Amino acid sequence: MKSDLPAELDFPLDRRLGKASAGKLEKQLGLKTVGDLLHHFPRRYLERGELTPIAELPYDEDVSLIARVQSANSRRMRTRKGMLLEVVVTDDTDGTLGRLHLSFFNGYKAEKELRVGVRALFSGKVGAYRDHLTLTNPTYVVLDEDADLDEDIARRPIPVYPATAALASPKIADAVAVLLDGLQGASLTDPVPERIRRRDGLPRMVEAFEMIHRPAELSDAYRARHRFRYQEALVLQTELARRRALTELEDATARPSREGGLLDRFDADLPFTLTAGQADVGQQISADLARPHPMNRLLQGEVGSGKTLVALRAMLQVIDAGGQAALLAPTEVLAAQHYASITRTLGPLAEGGLLGGDDEGTRVRLLTGSMTTAQRRAAMLDIASGEAGIVVGTHALLSENVQFADLGLVVVDEQHRFGVEQRDVLRSRGRSTPHLLVMTATPIPRTVAMTVFGDLEVSTLAELPAGRAPISTHLAPLADHPGWEARIWQRAREEIDAGRQVYVVCPKIGDREEEPGSDPGLLPGTAEPAGTGIQRELASVAAVYERLSSLPALAGTRIGMLHGRMEPQEKAAVMEGFNRGTVDLLVATTVIEVGVDVPNATLMVILDADRFGISQLHQLRGRVGRGGLPGTCLLVTGLENGHPSRERLDAVASTTDGFELSRRDLELRREGDILGAAQSGGRSTLRLLRAVQDEALIAQARDDAQLLIRQDPELAEFPALAAAISRYLDPEAQAFLDRG
Ligand code: ADP
Ligand code: MG
Repeated sequence: MKSDLPAELDFPLDRRLGKASAGKLEKQLGLKTVGDLLHHFPRRYLERGELTPIAELPYDEDVSLIARVQSANSRRMRTRKGMLLEVVVTDDTDGTLGRLHLSFFNGYKAEKELRVGVRALFSGKVGAYRDHLTLTNPTYVVLDEDADLDEDIARRPIPVYPATAALASPKIADAVAVLLDGLQGASLTDPVPERIRRRDGLPRMVEAFEMIHRPAELSDAYRARHRFRYQEALVLQTELARRRALTELEDATARPSREGGLLDRFDADLPFTLTAGQADVGQQISADLARPHPMNRLLQGEVGSGKTLVALRAMLQVIDAGGQAALLAPTEVLAAQHYASITRTLGPLAEGGLLGGDDEGTRVRLLTGSMTTAQRRAAMLDIASGEAGIVVGTHALLSENVQFADLGLVVVDEQHRFGVEQRDVLRSRGRSTPHLLVMTATPIPRTVAMTVFGDLEVSTLAELPAGRAPISTHLAPLADHPGWEARIWQRAREEIDAGRQVYVVCPKIGDREEEPGSDPGLLPGTAEPAGTGIQRELASVAAVYERLSSLPALAGTRIGMLHGRMEPQEKAAVMEGFNRGTVDLLVATTVIEVGVDVPNATLMVILDADRFGISQLHQLRGRVGRGGLPGTCLLVTGLENGHPSRERLDAVASTTDGFELSRRDLELRREGDILGAAQSGGRSTLRLLRAVQDEALIAQARDDAQLLIRQDPELAEFPALAAAISRYLDPEAQAFLDRG
């Protein structure tokens, strides 16, 4: 592949620019190659004819603006040698807001050029002195309004680059101009195949570089930007399509369904009918499992949409075909619950070989770190011999030295903690790669599914089983209504008196010094800092438990607590108590987030709810309203009205549509956060693509990529695309190519 690289883009910058300017670009902006600099796109454009509103300049940031010189005065400096030129520029608006003070030390040249009335493009970092905004020693380019300037050039928009104080936007533009002049007439092979460029009317790459850096008019810049967005999407999607194609080639044991087997008998005894979605997805999965290549499927659906049931049916098909299935949960508590619920759901079918059990039944085994050595040994034996058809555990199950007789299917509950590396561990296990089903209750918007999880096929359960009661969610802002707190515990009391159960969720544990959100049950990166800089004491499980235990309003109720740092036996005992109804109110961290299923729980109070992310809140509240009884979720916050973090709470209170919420989540967060958190290694952020707005573009690129890879798996006909992929995946290594 290397020999086909369109080498120009991979040349080190110092081959095309002076050493000094190449060094500066690398030091200031990390740009090493011609391609790096050409892909360093302007953030926006200034129109030459328009002055920039000075009042809107951000303080303490590097800016570029066009302004007119209002006054210029130079004077000797008193304490130092030399002169100081003080220039006041204006945006021609009335009043003082539209003025900016520039100072130039020894600005002899500026003194000549920046005469009153001259318009220029200034770049520098905005500071403040006394009551006015300042730029110190800004760089500038005089914009001549003289008639002798080419009118065409005079109308061109001016690019504004992401810049630093030491390397201002015009300097970057100069360096880019050198590269662009060097490209004149060059025919770089284009990563975007010609057929697609023609179809969509996209400019060629060299042309597009020119248009985005030196647009004749703004519409050029936008056309070029669109082209590079598409290119980025295509590069990413082609790589993902290539990976899918490689997976396709891997071998797996086919696990076709067997008539009259466990699955058939399970279905026959099912006390309800499958939802249409469950039936459809079930058929897809069944067909996947019957093929001699590994399934890689993501199953998404709201909490309670019946994913676990779909997974269980897949496991039974694999057992019918002579294989074993492993179910991995993110925590031991959840593993234990899955174990209990699967055993319950299977009934006699899970008692294979046991007295009173089903002769053809299978066995379900739990394997966790907190079991005694003897228990573990017994479980391991069943797993190794194949007696155990279903093994439930945490992710440690994969890394530990657990021998399966014939592992045919791995089901993972929750995708967040199951990244690409773990999937690779999976592939390296066993005689052939097991089939993989990943379940997630966090709805993943299509774009993210297509990018971050682009090497998985995605199935969705869109509807909830009939008879599910609605959850109503209310915001309880204590800053605005301090009296509501008493009312909340009163409400909890009423639920309990009516025979129901209550969750109280806290953002931290509180048994010792800790970071907020440090409980292992909390998804990484979801609790965002309050952002005000004002330290608030966050509700902790320990403190709330203590307070509620002595609260008169709750006298006589049975209160328990649960968090990730308790001893496993303690945890199990508390969960068991809550399951059986001997605990009325459970104070917990987010360890209850996934999988806990207590139909009798009807009220959830989330304290300091602003500390949780949107999807986490949505998932948490899915714990109530499961038993046909309407659920209520109270989002308690100390934030004042108008605080930016309240937006998330308002969003969660306003809808129960998980897809809508994940869209809002994406819009409120920076995309880099999402993609960065979920993708490991390589370049994790997208340059131009925007996860929400560019959905259609990404979908198109995905289809195009699929077709390309199907026709030409090695991309032999598309060396420039192949090169763009390797550049995208490994920008570091690329800088060394052709060096020296
Ligand atoms: P999820 O894993 O998506 O949260 P589960 O599979 O755990 O959902 O299902 C939640 C509850 O709904 C379980 O008690 C399950 O038995 C029940 N359930 C699943 N599918 C159906 C269905 N088609 N009709 C009625 N109840 C169902
Ligand atoms: Mg579940």
